[in-house]
Amino acid sequence: MSLDQETFKLLKDSVQRFVRERLMPAEDYVEEHDEVPADIVSDMKELGLFGLSIPEEFGGIGLTMAQECEVAYELGHTALAFRSVVGTNIGIGSQGILIDGTAEQKAEYLPRIASGDLVVSFALTEPDAGSDAASIKTKGVKDGSDYLLSGTKRFITNAPRAGAFTLMARTEGAGAGGITAFIVPAGLPGLSLGKPDRKMGQRGTKTCDVNLDNVRVPAANIIGGEPGKGFKTAMKV
Ligand SMILES: Cc1cc2nc3c(=O)[nH]c(=O)nc-3n(C[C@H](O)[C@H](O)[C@H](O)COP(=O)(O)OP(=O)(O)OC[C@H]3O[C@@H](n4cnc5c(N)ncnc54)[C@H](O)[C@@H]3O)c2cc1C
Repeated sequence: MSLDQETFKLLKDSVQRFVRERLMPAEDYVEEHDEVPADIVSDMKELGLFGLSIPEEFGGIGLTMAQECEVAYELGHTALAFRSVVGTNIGIGSQGILIDGTAEQKAEYLPRIASGDLVVSFALTEPDAGSDAASIKTKGVKDGSDYLLSGTKRFITNAPRAGAFTLMARTEGAGAGGITAFIVPAGLPGLSLGKPDRKMGQRGTKTCDVNLDNVRVPAANIIGGEPGKGFKTAMKV
């Protein structure tokens, strides 16, 4: 279900006003401090920006892709950092769960992602695997009803803010069919973050490495419940 045109226009007007009255005046702060102020993040939650693409049944606004693009266009009038705060929840972090997750995974994660209480990142890229994403080396070794994940993910947007990762690891051998997508909570033992990446621009956006050293993740956290489907999930988001 998408928003009807009248309600969507009200939302778009609110976003335009928010950009003009709240975000633009904070651009200098973001540039100087390399951070989006917490009170603005809290206002973004209230406006529903974290859940733009999540269906209403899971607490989001349920915009169509065309409507989402219109809102992104409005947010594009100000510093990129603001949209980046919500970007992974709207897009790459949440969509794997939304498209391929089990009913239980959707019920457990999507409402918190939509409200912004849980920031979710997408972890595919590695030091030796970028464009050729099917060549990732992060491995997942089955151990009882868990998997032990080890490897390094690189350039992961919002990793320093994330409470969970949609993370791809190799569990089934070589090639794209050997990759499994997991939901990995950020606080698990063995998971650590690298130093924040220093970029030439994009002040206030956050990327860094995510290091995994035998991180124990239950098989129940495989997106969709079935190993070997993770590359397809990653390509759909
Ligand atoms: C700001 C930022 C945020 C990011 N956020 C995330 C994130 O949240 N999650 C995540 O998983 N990743 C993220 N990434 C990583 C991003 O997905 C990779 O940078 C991208 O996939 C390219 O990989 P690479 O940097 O290893 O470059 P490479 O793959 O090494 O490519 C380098 C250059 O070679 C070219 N090239 C590569 N292969 C070929 C080919 N076969 N033929 C011709 N040309 C080729 C590319 O076009 C590029 O110009 C982010 C990157 C940046 C910069």
